[in-house]
Amino acid sequence: MDSDRRHAQVVEDFSEYVNPYLGKLMNFAGFGVEDHAEGCFVYDHEGRAFLDFLGGYGVFSLGHRHPKVVAAVEDQVRKMPLGSKVFFNEPMTLLAKKLAQMTPEPLQYTFFSNSGAEAVEAAIKLAKGATGRPKIVATEGGYHGKTLGALSITGRKKYQEPFYPLMPGADFVPFGDAEALERAIDGTTAAFIVEVVQGEGGIHVAPSGYLRRARELCDQYGALLITDEVQTGLGRTGTMFAFEQEGIVPDLLTLAKCLGGGVMPIGATMGTPAVWEATFGRNSLIHTSTFGGNPLACAAGLAALQVVEEENLCQKAKDRGDYLVASLRRVGEMYPDFVAEIRGRGLMVGAEFTMDEVGELVIAQLTKRGLIAAYTLNNPRVIRFEPPLIVSEAEIDQAVAAFDEALAETSKMLAELAV
Ligand SMILES: *Cc1c(COP(=O)(O)O)cnc(C)c1O
Repeated sequence: MDSDRRHAQVVEDFSEYVNPYLGKLMNFAGFGVEDHAEGCFVYDHEGRAFLDFLGGYGVFSLGHRHPKVVAAVEDQVRKMPLGSKVFFNEPMTLLAKKLAQMTPEPLQYTFFSNSGAEAVEAAIKLAKGATGRPKIVATEGGYHGKTLGALSITGRKKYQEPFYPLMPGADFVPFGDAEALERAIDGTTAAFIVEVVQGEGGIHVAPSGYLRRARELCDQYGALLITDEVQTGLGRTGTMFAFEQEGIVPDLLTLAKCLGGGVMPIGATMGTPAVWEATFGRNSLIHTSTFGGNPLACAAGLAALQVVEEENLCQKAKDRGDYLVASLRRVGEMYPDFVAEIRGRGLMVGAEFTMDEVGELVIAQLTKRGLIAAYTLNNPRVIRFEPPLIVSEAEIDQAVAAFDEALAETSKMLAELAV
């Protein structure tokens, strides 16, 4: 089948059998059909290369199809991809042990699942189960997933309202506001859940001292602190976990996205002996998942963690992140009417525009120039750059040049519309 016909067929089938409304939007935006990927590049149905500066919203920290992760998965698929759920599962225990070695005490145990939302669901249940309390404090603009429990603490009304009533006991505070947190956390609070850098909320870095104050308040009232590192985890912000830069250790930690090395889906919820004793100690099967912790995903996870260490990806994220921010700022300063701010930590970078419409136009222009980018789900004014942590300076230069051209073109289009 020639590539045009293939594209037309996929668009038609997507719209007929998956989601006609999204199909129309994607087709209108001119997206092709992805065919294969490697390193920092995705190739479409025409064989055109796209530099991946979205990185699957944080999934592709190791790039696409990292050879060590692919090899680990190939090896495991020949032995036993899914576990019996009866015998001891060695890849799972090895991954749990590795995670425990990488995190400070008292984080020790890991419950495995298949996605970020599931990792958050487990954290909610363990927090409520361990404390016997109903209230979960969360942040406005925060993103924790779209299953009912995770959605209940995801701070965006647009996604919540059609599904009311949600889980009772969710209470929202503005992100970064320590005083609001003081008013919200009390003796009925099971947990405060927070992203160290809000991803979908628009790439907002927690103000200095905020997490430390949250830790104090949680300790004072016997509440648990959950850091959701589904997006920030495993080097993205310049350290293995973003909480390390805040001088705190959470009671529960959620991971997913890049934990599968960009090859397998996996979610993980880490916790302390105190939390485990109060929950699994009561009933060892109090929370379970059929596919969670399957050997195939865990083999990928273990290989991924080794790659992050061996290739020094934390330091790379920091250095390349600083370079990306500085380069984007140089371009942004030339368009003060459009670009309000460039900010981020490590390779989790956002460009905030002064108007909602600009983001969409710039993304379309970037796609045209062979760069994959997207806006943040809870904040369309911010487009995000989350390339693989293996990205080179030359690839960053290529992306920044595309950003420059995209802004020039967008500014021309808006000027024409204005007259
Ligand atoms: C993406 C994300 C989730 C949800 O993960 P899914 O795998 O899409 O369910 C949860 N929390 C954060 C911080 C995320 O970025």
